[in-house]
Amino acid sequence: MPNNTDQLTRFLFDELGVRGEIVTLDSSWQAALSKHDYPTVVAEQLGQALAASLLLSATLKFDGSLIIQIRGDGPINLLVSQADDQQAVRGLAHWNGDVPDGNLSSLFGHGVLVMTIKPTKGKAYQGVVSLEGDTLSDALQAYFTQSEQLKTRLWFAVNGEHAVGLMLQELPMHEGEEADWERVEMLANTITDDELLNLNSEEVIHRLFHEETVRLFEPEPVEFKCDCSQEKVEASLLTLGLKELRSLVEERGVIEADCDFCNKHYQFDAIDIEQLFSEGKIGGSAVKH
Ligand SMILES: [Zn+2]
Repeated sequence: MPNNTDQLTRFLFDELGVRGEIVTLDSSWQAALSKHDYPTVVAEQLGQALAASLLLSATLKFDGSLIIQIRGDGPINLLVSQADDQQAVRGLAHWNGDVPDGNLSSLFGHGVLVMTIKPTKGKAYQGVVSLEGDTLSDALQAYFTQSEQLKTRLWFAVNGEHAVGLMLQELPMHEGEEADWERVEMLANTITDDELLNLNSEEVIHRLFHEETVRLFEPEPVEFKCDCSQEKVEASLLTLGLKELRSLVEERGVIEADCDFCNKHYQFDAIDIEQLFSEGKIGGSAVKH
């Protein structure tokens, strides 16, 4: 896949009132895969979720991040993916035992799709719908329909090397105008997994929309990046309280915390814990015993 690694390309049908995006994950996909020993079926869902969060976060008009989460009682009990305005993405899946290939309900059981939008400044917004349809694409489409947002469709193709997503979204229209949504959607529907995985973004757009007037924007780089930090782990430890932490250290020697997204290892011994509290890192009200 030449000239097309780890990038997001936006395109626009000015006359038809529709915008599009294609995202391709390559080394960022390898980075996500390397964190856990994912069965193929689970990896496929993760690849789709990573692509989806990047595609959808790129539609936000403010700085912040978008998180897609699926929780269920099936073989895959958690799927999370988060992307921000810098096209940094991270994600993970938790599963139990053998995961048979199948539709969403056989993979996730009874589940919910949670979409969280977290602006850098301001309040977070969260929408929850029950998990519906056969694929993640169906579930996301149901989410947009139920929350009465702009018409949105996504297509995904994932293999061991690439995770690719294509999205179309209706543009907000002025009164009396109407997007030529069906025409663009019908053209996009002719895409195959093989084409998404083996053509670069420009070729995909040409293949689908060569009869339309399409404005293509400069591709933006995408990377797998985790924003966990010593400070964030400390902050979450502080919520347990000194008493609890002291007894944990006594029991285990050290308190260990691994970031599930990037596998970074954090460790705190008895002295670290005492310091955490004596340094007044809990908003000035230092706890001393
Ligand atoms: Zn991390």
